[in-house]
Amino acid sequence: MDRCLRCNAEVLIVPSATSGTSMTLDAKPTSGVRVFQRYGIEVVDYSGDTHTMTEPEMVAEVVYVYTGHDTTCHAATSRAARD
Ligand SMILES: [Zn+2]
Repeated sequence: MDRCLRCNAEVLIVPSATSGTSMTLDAKPTSGVRVFQRYGIEVVDYSGDTHTMTEPEMVAEVVYVYTGHDTTCHAATSRAARD
């Protein structure tokens, strides 16, 4: 596990999937819910029967997200840490 050079907190340093530049993230993710459309999902109704949806339906999925450490690093709030 990497550590922040300013505050010594545990961080993840991973390349951005789009630019390749390194991103420094808080080590512990938080959970959120992603909602998106999906075709042909199977749903279970109140009676326990399973149906395959033929129209696109909104579905929810729990995902884990990481916060950029620059927004949470307490040392980054001082002018010396930013410069
Ligand atoms: Zn830090």
